[in-house]
Parts: sequence; C-alpha cells; structure tokens
Amino acid sequence: MNKVVAVDGPAASGKGTLARRLARHYGFAHLDSGRLYRAVALRVIREDLDPTDEIVCSQAAATLDPAGLDDPALRTEAVGRMASRVSALPGVRRELLDFQRRFATRQPGAVIDGRDIGTVICPDAPAKLFVTATVEERARRRHKELLDQGEAAIYAAVLKDLAERDARDTSRATSPLIRAADAFLLDTTSMDVEAAFAAALAYVESRIGPAPAGAGLETAARDTQ
Ligand code: C5P
Repeated sequence: MNKVVAVDGPAASGKGTLARRLARHYGFAHLDSGRLYRAVALRVIREDLDPTDEIVCSQAAATLDPAGLDDPALRTEAVGRMASRVSALPGVRRELLDFQRRFATRQPGAVIDGRDIGTVICPDAPAKLFVTATVEERARRRHKELLDQGEAAIYAAVLKDLAERDARDTSRATSPLIRAADAFLLDTTSMDVEAAFAAALAYVESRIGPAPAGAGLETAARDTQ
C-alpha cells in the first residue's frame, strides 16, 4: 500500500489541521474529503435539489467539478449541515469513492481526512488516526473560530449543531463514523495544537518512518497554521 495516512474523527475535532500539517511535514498530497460532501451539498442548495432524492444527489456527486473544491462557500455552517444529510445517502458515497481511492495513490504519499477513510476508503492504510475531543470542547473551538471570522455565533447553538451532526454521522447505515480497530486514538480535549501535532507525528513516524530530509516545504516548527 502507498504511504497513506488516514485521519478520521468528528466535526471540529482538529483533524483537518492535523492532516494539513502532517501532509506538509511529509511533502504528501492532502485531501479534505469533507469538501467533496460539502460540494455536493452546495449544489443541492444552489440548484434547489431535493436532499432526500438519492438519484438526484448521486448525479450531483457524479458530475462534481474538482475545480469547485476550493470554493470558500463550502465552509459555511449551512453547507456543513446539508453535507451531513447528503453524505448519509449510499449513492452519494459510492460516487465519491473512486476519486478518494485514486487520490490515495498520489506520490510520494497522501494524507486524507474524513469520517470513513481508515474503515472504508483505505482500510489498508499503513497509518490511521482517530482524532476526537469532547463535544463541549469541540463546540468551544468552533464557536471561537466563528467569532474570529466575524460571524455572530451562539455557543449553545454551535453545541446543539455539533451534537446533531455527531448523531447523524455515527448512526447512518452506510460508512458511519467509527474508529477503525487499528486506528491510533488521539483525544485532543486537553491538548493544544502543538501537543496534538507532536503526538500524531510520533505515531505516524512509528508506522511509516520519519519524513525524508527536506521532504516538506515547511517543518512543524515553522508551521503556524
Ligand atoms: O469534515 P466536514 O465538516 O467538512 O464534513 C462535512 C460533512 O460531510 C460531515 O458532517 C459528514 O457528514 C460528511 N463527511 C462524510 N465522510 C467523510 C467526510 C465528511 O460523511 N469522509
């Protein structure tokens, strides 16, 4: 298997930041798979499609333009909520499978973050992380992030939204959010970003070895994101 690092976990667990930093450290390609589901959601919203119609949503997934994955509109809370709905449709997940598996073959390696990377997309990945934190801590972080972006946000509403998203992501029949039996559990509840990265890197190095000298464009120490 290619050098693939699978990073799964619930919303706002910090898995995206960790995945980005690991990719940069190793000089690997990085895919935030949530963007695929968000891109489908954005089409559903913009084209006023029925989010319960599996055929229509699957077609939207099958005809996604990868160029649209950088659209800033993907980041909004409304799109995240819709993504959580359409991602429960098996047809949508099926249409997005190939793209993710192809991405996993990128050289010299790939870091993919999501919900089912270590369980369904890349079950043979040599390194698997399951990143989590209590729902209250994740809500606190997301709330702060929204305020920092100048958005009006109420902590109780953010907490409720995350709890609902957790429930949907863990209870769906197809590819539910679940820790792979062989994934390294990283609970970041009482860790800052640096401590979480150090713990993640120590695990990944134990699985695929250290980054070759000069591999990443930036080292962990210089990485401020
Ligand atoms: O990670 P992010 O918040 O961007 O994901 C948006 C939604 O897409 C999640 O709530 C989840 O329902 C879905 N998703 C998924 N499988 C993935 C990535 C995201 O079901 N691999």
